[in-house]
Amino acid sequence: MTAPSPSHPLSFLTDQLNELRASGSFFRLRELESACEPVSRADGREVINLASNNYLGLANHPKLKEAALEAVRKYGAGTGAVRTITGTMAMHMELERKIAAFKHTEACVVFQSGFTANAGTVSSILGPEDHIISDELNHASIIDGCRLSRAKIHVFRHRDAAHAAEVLVGLKESKGNKLLITDGVFSMDGDIGPLPQLVEVAEKHGAIMMIDDAHSSGVLGRNGRGTVDHFGLHGRVQIQVGTLSKAIGVLGGYVCGSRDLVDYLYHRARPFLFSTSHPPAVTAACSTAFDLLVEEPERIERLWENTRYFKAALRDNGFDSGASETPITPIIVGEARTAHEYSAALFEEGLWATGIGFPTVPKGKARIRAIVTAAHTKDHLDRAVEILTRVARRLSILPS
Ligand SMILES: *Cc1c(COP(=O)(O)O)cnc(C)c1O
Repeated sequence: MTAPSPSHPLSFLTDQLNELRASGSFFRLRELESACEPVSRADGREVINLASNNYLGLANHPKLKEAALEAVRKYGAGTGAVRTITGTMAMHMELERKIAAFKHTEACVVFQSGFTANAGTVSSILGPEDHIISDELNHASIIDGCRLSRAKIHVFRHRDAAHAAEVLVGLKESKGNKLLITDGVFSMDGDIGPLPQLVEVAEKHGAIMMIDDAHSSGVLGRNGRGTVDHFGLHGRVQIQVGTLSKAIGVLGGYVCGSRDLVDYLYHRARPFLFSTSHPPAVTAACSTAFDLLVEEPERIERLWENTRYFKAALRDNGFDSGASETPITPIIVGEARTAHEYSAALFEEGLWATGIGFPTVPKGKARIRAIVTAAHTKDHLDRAVEILTRVARRLSILPS
């Protein structure tokens, strides 16, 4: 690497990258050379893939691929415009009706991603006079939406509904709307938000309840309907966000709620208004995925069976997987450098599991994050645990 000249206007970026290098947090993007499969090919190696969010193995499912191909043949590669101009095809409306019916809500709007669904919704429904009460571990897309809205942001302790209530009591005299917002499943720890308690708090204090079910769509609830269904809270959560990028296997996000909420977002959510709609292939593949959730629920059962099997094996081998209650399985090792070294060594041995450190997770809580899918076999999981254990002993993460 050649040193940048001090006068280079971007040299401050190089300084920051050097800090990342010094702390062992610098990474290079791994290149996936096969489809996303339980055993994938990446950077020239065959590896058991415990790094994806492809919970149900739908990303490379023959029926989704067929639907995508047929949509391309009939409707082309792109839509040519944003939804509000000429970019709404009949299939976009059909997908929205299908998701709304699936979630038992009046209406649904599909966004280009889960990120834009969150950021676009929070930022368009709230303004500077409003208040947001947000779990401290909520996803970056929620945080960005909160900032864009210019509403006042009040952070409550992770999964602490009593703290959220305290904050709302303190806001009793404040005018403006109040939004209580949580992830359904938290993406780094795999724990579930205390929805029943939060819904009660929201109802008591007249707050809007919003949940982000990115990691719960297709995972929790009957047929993967998410945390509202899991906890039996239909009709009591005004805004449900889901993603089409994880268990659904494709790309996109959606917001489910009342007809008026969705009509409002059609008129005001900036990513919806100012960014082109999903191409036919994406829309058709997503639509097929929802059919599979309804027709083949055994895939979700397999996901949970694999989850229980994998977690039990980790526990038996002395690993600490924190508070996880879902397929997201953190293996906490402490320092970011250790997590990244562990991840790199695992990859060399044939296992792909991401290392995650500060600032994504708190200092001292760096981890490997492993996500099992419905498509893994017991043999894959046995081999994965064997590699995890062997390498952990070698690196003194576990006693040898
Ligand atoms: C992944 C994720 C998102 C973003 O979803 P994309 O469809 O990938 O943009 C939003 N919220 C949470 C909690 C997530 O984990």
